[in-house]
Amino acid sequence: MDTAAYLRSHIRTVPDWPAPGVQFRDITPLLQDPKVFRVLIDTFVHRYMDRDKRPDVVAGLDARGFIIGSVVAYELGVGFVPIRKKGKLPFTTVAETYELEYGSATVELHTDAVKPGDRVLLIDDLIATGGTMMAGKKLLEKLGATVTEGAAIVALPELGGVQRLEAAGLPLFTLVSFE
Ligand code: IMP
Repeated sequence: MDTAAYLRSHIRTVPDWPAPGVQFRDITPLLQDPKVFRVLIDTFVHRYMDRDKRPDVVAGLDARGFIIGSVVAYELGVGFVPIRKKGKLPFTTVAETYELEYGSATVELHTDAVKPGDRVLLIDDLIATGGTMMAGKKLLEKLGATVTEGAAIVALPELGGVQRLEAAGLPLFTLVSFE
């Protein structure tokens, strides 16, 4: 079995959660099995160890992006910064609000999280409409950093996020796609 199929076989689909009609892709089984967790992390680390792709900083999106992103940062020997939902970060922040299917959401980043010119790898567990990752990219750019790539375990291309992010000039690296 190739890596994508191996990882995919450990993603659980939960129907009608958190709302009727939604097929939620649950990555917790990937984390729970130490062998699978290692394959997952090693796949990201292998890509970003490469001299051309190595970031200065890894940024993780709240909340599952923290789980993956912090371990990848540790293995790469670079710092990790969290992009959090509104109201969670204690120091001065920059904020970005984006539209959801119903309503809007705001994410924040500490103003000293990155320096102008930093090359940042932005990580989340999943890309659906791309709104969350786009907001993270904008936050990092507000502080003068460059997001060199967006990485996620899962892409849901039918929801348009992959296309939208690539059209905005963000290269993506995802491991498993669900149509
Ligand atoms: P987007 O902003 O529409 O791309 O949604 C992506 C964000 O919502 C990520 O932070 C994900 O953690 C979360 N998300 C949306 N759908 C799912 C899912 O099916 N499984 C896990 N997370 C999801």
